[in-house]
Amino acid sequence: MSEETLDPKDWDSLKALGHQIVDDMIDYLKNIREKPIWQQPTEEIKKKFQANLPKSGENITDIYQEIKDNVIPYGMGNIHPRFWGWVIGSGSFSGALADFIASSINYNSGGFNHSATYMENQVIDWAKEMFGFDSEASGLITTGGSMANLIGLVVARNTKAGYDIRKEGLQSSSNKLTFYGSNEMHSSILKAIELFGIGDQYLRKISVNDSYEINCDELEKSINDDIKKGFKPICIIGNLGTVNTGAVDDLGKLSSISKKYDLWLHVDGAFGALTKISPESNYLAKNLELADSIAFDFHKWMYINYEAGGILVKRKSDHLKALSLTADYIAHSTRGLHASETWFADYGIQLSRSFKALKIWTLIKEQGIEKFGRLVQQNINQANYLASLIMREKSLELSIPVSMNIVCFRFKPDNIEMTQEQLNKINEEILWQLHEKGIAIPSYTNLKGNYVIRVAITNHRSRKEDFELLISSIIELGNQIAIL
Ligand SMILES: *Cc1c(COP(=O)(O)O)cnc(C)c1O
Repeated sequence: MSEETLDPKDWDSLKALGHQIVDDMIDYLKNIREKPIWQQPTEEIKKKFQANLPKSGENITDIYQEIKDNVIPYGMGNIHPRFWGWVIGSGSFSGALADFIASSINYNSGGFNHSATYMENQVIDWAKEMFGFDSEASGLITTGGSMANLIGLVVARNTKAGYDIRKEGLQSSSNKLTFYGSNEMHSSILKAIELFGIGDQYLRKISVNDSYEINCDELEKSINDDIKKGFKPICIIGNLGTVNTGAVDDLGKLSSISKKYDLWLHVDGAFGALTKISPESNYLAKNLELADSIAFDFHKWMYINYEAGGILVKRKSDHLKALSLTADYIAHSTRGLHASETWFADYGIQLSRSFKALKIWTLIKEQGIEKFGRLVQQNINQANYLASLIMREKSLELSIPVSMNIVCFRFKPDNIEMTQEQLNKINEEILWQLHEKGIAIPSYTNLKGNYVIRVAITNHRSRKEDFELLISSIIELGNQIAIL
């Protein structure tokens, strides 16, 4: 018997299937506007994913048919022009091709003396330029904003703890370490704080003003109270675009408070940091360069195919001191494939990594950074356009003024008296009908007890007419539901 391999016996038929898949995917993307945005996976479909572990193989062409029948029609819908739920990116076909190449060559982007390492360093350099960090800074392409926040906060903790936290852990500290951010912080910050042993109660959640921005007086008072009680304040987390409303904390003020008390300033700019590349809206990212670290995503408002996020740290030495750990088997050397100056595990947590840099690099080269700036601005303009449509309608209420790319509003008929509870129910029903009828996918949030429909625009395929359709559909559904 000859040895086995995963490679095909017949390369030509696999090549034909590959060509077919590329054709199908291009057609799918080209016609996405005509398709329903979402279809509920049926019970029958769910059952198909409960079949037993296959003992022997099947034909790849049949498997592809199964993917076409059971996977693609019941997908998320986030590549559709009317997808505006949560904060989710829309991807692109060039990104998919780059991912296909990355996956075919299957490099491990952990470091090593190969092209992927040099390309990732270049992408990080480009990110520094985009966000106003100088060349002393360091960075890493991550799986997303959650991992970027985790890394940023670990570097903050280790740099500001005042003792060798890598050796001692949290066990020997006589001071309790405290972190600060507004109560609008993203859940990934809370999770990071829990994960590295700080404990949720030591992440001080500071109240926000009417624009959902951190209350700086309360922040400073909280820091002072903690110092008096013998705690050790470590880090302020600033929001550049909160997930609820797109609010931006006063980063200039947060920077001066952090300097005054010798704290780290970490900015969660998962999507909002991208406003920095729009000449018309970069005022929103004012003072971003004062941060000690920034977490951002390529896969949200830069429309890069999942997954791709990033972290930048102002001083490389802080970054390495917190995370570099070199075992014998990856000890740096100067020759052969091992002769790399950069080992990405020194800047993060993963050792083996996919080649994410390729799709980011490809898209930036193909489109140019100015185009991305214009698309970010286009989405902001669309958010303002949507707000203007809402304000024109008597039966719609804009919940807060639009400050970035997020619009929160609700159906509220002006001719019928309704309690908050009734309005909440109606708006929830409108939202789910929009999803279930395959019209559009906004999401929701709760603002001061009101259930509001929330549109977050990180979609390069949306057009004005899509927002017009959203508004007419909501009014129609709302009127129907209100009568029932
Ligand atoms: C999405 C988001 C995150 C988390 O990023 P992921 O890429 O989903 O891991 C963190 N902060 C904010 C403000 C976000 O919008």
